[in-house]
Amino acid sequence: MSGRLKRAEGAFRQLGAEAALISDGANRRWLTGFSGSSGAVLLLDGTAELVTDGRYTIQAAAECREGVQVVTHRGPLATWLAERLAGVHGPLAVEADHLTVAEMARLKKTLPGLAWLETEGVVAKLRMVKDAEELQAIRRAFQVADQAFSALLPAVAPGISEIELALDLEARMRGAGAGLGFDTIVVSGPHSALPHGQPSGRRLEPGDLVTVDWGATWQGYTSDATRTLAVGRLDPRGRQIYQVVKAAMEAAIRVAKDGVSARTVHEAALAVIAEAGWADRFVHGTGHGVGLEVHEAPSLGARSEDILAAGMVVTFEPGIYIEGYGGVRIEQTGIITEGGAELLSHLATDLQIV
Ligand code: ZN
Ligand code: ZN
Repeated sequence: MSGRLKRAEGAFRQLGAEAALISDGANRRWLTGFSGSSGAVLLLDGTAELVTDGRYTIQAAAECREGVQVVTHRGPLATWLAERLAGVHGPLAVEADHLTVAEMARLKKTLPGLAWLETEGVVAKLRMVKDAEELQAIRRAFQVADQAFSALLPAVAPGISEIELALDLEARMRGAGAGLGFDTIVVSGPHSALPHGQPSGRRLEPGDLVTVDWGATWQGYTSDATRTLAVGRLDPRGRQIYQVVKAAMEAAIRVAKDGVSARTVHEAALAVIAEAGWADRFVHGTGHGVGLEVHEAPSLGARSEDILAAGMVVTFEPGIYIEGYGGVRIEQTGIITEGGAELLSHLATDLQIV
């Protein structure tokens, strides 16, 4: 078994499991290399099997790393599992944070004699620190995303709609051979007060704030960046909010490094925003891990117990949102190192009036 599979098996064993069933898509991909949308990994007695269906036989054989046996099965996973686990008493570890209640009930009904161990976040924890190959894919995703945004900038002007801008940005990323990490957010004017608003038909007007949050994927790994622009001009309140958010982001980046608690990073950003009197308008955590998923561990929020470690890739994205007026969010993503955070996007974060 490869290093990742061994580490996963060790982690499940430490929790008391005899075997483990990994069904979450990102975890499955990280463990085996298989990028398909359906299947599960069974870790048992030092072996790793990827069970999938006939649609993926060719793809799974091509993508899976050495040490992973590909099994194609017709019918429910539970039926295959019941045959495969004959004579095994368990406990079999399952991903309680990904299986549905219905899936779990079906497993229990088909394998009545087996002991179960419901686990959460076991593989997600292993995925937090990225290896060189993963970092290379993430860097490439950021290059594509940066280039697409730079090319989009001249189009940001009064009269263009949020949907048109989002579509243009997405087309540029896809045109460069990348995938989309998530649905692009383009929100303008009062609409920019929605941190995760969807692009609408609203057309940009002079004086608007426009927040763009976008990500490209490369070999499954995503970038994540946000910039807020001003159209033509910006009133004093907008300028003040922008400077506070930027200072908060920079404060977070300054404290982030190997060994620092993720909560401390959030507190650094929050302190700047609170000092300016906007604490109640900062309605989310400061950041999150980025990798095969756009939101993954660790979490950089008020309740986080994660400790940053070299090789983690995390975002720094404070924001201030004022209903009826608009909002500002600026998001940088960095690789955690011993000495700090190496930022991945090279786009300016200064206020840009376009
Ligand atoms: Zn984002
Ligand atoms: Zn983000």
